[in-house]
Amino acid sequence: MSRLVVISNRVPVPDKKKAAPAGGLAVALRAALSERGGIWLGWSGNSSGDENPGDLSILEDGNITYALTDLTDRDVEEYYHGFANRVLWPICHYRLDLADYGRKEMTGYFRVNRFFAERLVPMLKPDDTIWVHDYHLIPLASELRQMGVKNRIGFFLHIPLPPADVLFAMPVHEEIIRALAHYDLVGFQTDHDLANFVGALEREGIGRSLGNGRLASFERRFRGGHYPIGIETAAFAGFAERAAHNSMVRRARDSMADRPLIIGVDRLDYSKGLTQRIDAYERFILENPRHQGNVTYLQVTPKSRSEVPEYEAMQRTVAEQAGRVNGALGTVDWVPIRYMNRSVARPVLAGLYRLARVGLVTPMRDGMNLVAKEYVAAQDGENPGVLVLSRFAGAAREMSGALLVNPYDIEGTANAIARAIDMPLDERKARWRQMMDHLLEHDVTRWCDDFLRDLTEEEQAGDHPE
Ligand code: UDP
Repeated sequence: MSRLVVISNRVPVPDKKKAAPAGGLAVALRAALSERGGIWLGWSGNSSGDENPGDLSILEDGNITYALTDLTDRDVEEYYHGFANRVLWPICHYRLDLADYGRKEMTGYFRVNRFFAERLVPMLKPDDTIWVHDYHLIPLASELRQMGVKNRIGFFLHIPLPPADVLFAMPVHEEIIRALAHYDLVGFQTDHDLANFVGALEREGIGRSLGNGRLASFERRFRGGHYPIGIETAAFAGFAERAAHNSMVRRARDSMADRPLIIGVDRLDYSKGLTQRIDAYERFILENPRHQGNVTYLQVTPKSRSEVPEYEAMQRTVAEQAGRVNGALGTVDWVPIRYMNRSVARPVLAGLYRLARVGLVTPMRDGMNLVAKEYVAAQDGENPGVLVLSRFAGAAREMSGALLVNPYDIEGTANAIARAIDMPLDERKARWRQMMDHLLEHDVTRWCDDFLRDLTEEEQAGDHPE
């Protein structure tokens, strides 16, 4: 079995002092790395004004080498905040209106990808399998190919890929699509994202589909596939059971005194549909007065990307909106929305999910949405809650027991909340069982194995001329 080399923007270096366990993706990739031996390379999270970022910091853990590089302040501004988070993120989440193009940022993005490639090349062995993650690093394979790297290289996009008409609004779309054709396997979350990629390849005349996931560009053949990411289902269900003793979970339970709880858990991000969700909840209360003073909605929303202006503005908008609803509907002994800007550790979140009768997951667009899967995994099978899920989350393709909603349709979402709150036990159990069986079978380890199996399969080697 060949060695595995993983590259991602940030690297979850094991921290023996930290009590909280790593997320599902880190657990699965570490397991794959330790089975094969390997390297995980990425940005350290540190930067300075110094144009020379210095040596890699290396940390060995068993047969895994973690290799971290600093970046310059300019790199972080242009590559990370600039192009990745202010161009690719909004475009891939269908928000043309929020994309902020600049030549400087686009150049910085390609420059930093070249820099990652330069750092990686001296560490590579000829038969290493390379797996690149996410939108920060799309051009990495083309940079590596230019440096003579012939290894198998796979890429997985964790966020959505929009249709050609949206993607093409981005001035460097052609370079971005062309860069993806330098991988041996390009993986997406859903069949829709994959179809959008093939559509963009063909529309731009960069490549075409040969059927069965096989693709051809002018220079080479490669493959595309969809690999919906899972969670560490069994372990997460275990967190949820054990969290009953956690003090935050106990306090939440005591404060509810058997009244129904609705939970939402999202980074503060415009893709998550928070404004529309609060509107839908308000409408649900107004139309179902018997739930006034009865139901409570807990929204856990850690701040994110505060350096990007849209995110900073959103902090104010959502806080004001939650405050307005609480002011309009609240009573002496009832707060309709409990709004928290703090981050909660996943094992504790698991306990909060389990308390909630309804999991409200209504992004306007999301690659997968792991919260939806975690909510289901955390439920007590004898008395499970109901998942209300946006049809625009990748998870909607799999979570057949959820109540699917269109988050742009405020009345429809309000009706789904009412239906979820009132759903009889038998129906809740049947819907939950369907989803839980799926999540147990398609967990994050299976996702990792499926991708690596397809990447390393013999007959699909790249670099075949047309
Ligand atoms: N999360 C967390 N603490 C919080 C809020 C979220 O640990 O306070 C975790 C959550 O459990 C999930 C991840 O962050 O594993 C969010 O993943 P998702 O795919 O839902 O959205 P993303 O933030 O990646 O867009």
